Amino acid sequence: MPGPYVGGCVCGALRYEFITEPTTVYICHCTECQKVSSSAFGMSVRVSADDFNITQGESKSVETVADSGRTKNGLFCPECGTRICSKPAVGDLVIVKAGTLDNPNWFKPIAHIWTRSAQSWFPFADGLPKFEQAPENIDELSRLWITYATGAGQS
Ligand SMILES: [Zn+2]
Ligand SMILES: [Zn+2]
Repeated sequence: MPGPYVGGCVCGALRYEFITEPTTVYICHCTECQKVSSSAFGMSVRVSADDFNITQGESKSVETVADSGRTKNGLFCPECGTRICSKPAVGDLVIVKAGTLDNPNWFKPIAHIWTRSAQSWFPFADGLPKFEQAPENIDELSRLWITYATGAGQS
């Protein structure tokens, strides 16, 4: 499905969009994603920072230290507290939180990362590649995206 891809926070004050296809989509089991989602994992949609725009409302930003030790800025709605995305300190990227998309079925993940902190009940029944931590080379997830996107029913 072609863009624009749109989404926003729970209360509706903050809205965003991006036009082009993400460069990868994955499940993150790091402890920060567990806290931010207040659930078992986060689903990350990686898009180019140039392509990501807040179309309504003002986001607030909070800096956190990821499990990798790197800092990143999380953008959230000051009214309802939903985190819509984060901006890593390295790379011109925005990591959109897939659950905030108007249609979370737009994208399917291609890997699991930070599985060492995955909740112990999680079944990993999908056969996707798993990484104990984040892959050393961030392009690895983009490579998997290209591999799985062909023939995985993504359009
Ligand atoms: Zn909100
Ligand atoms: Zn994470």
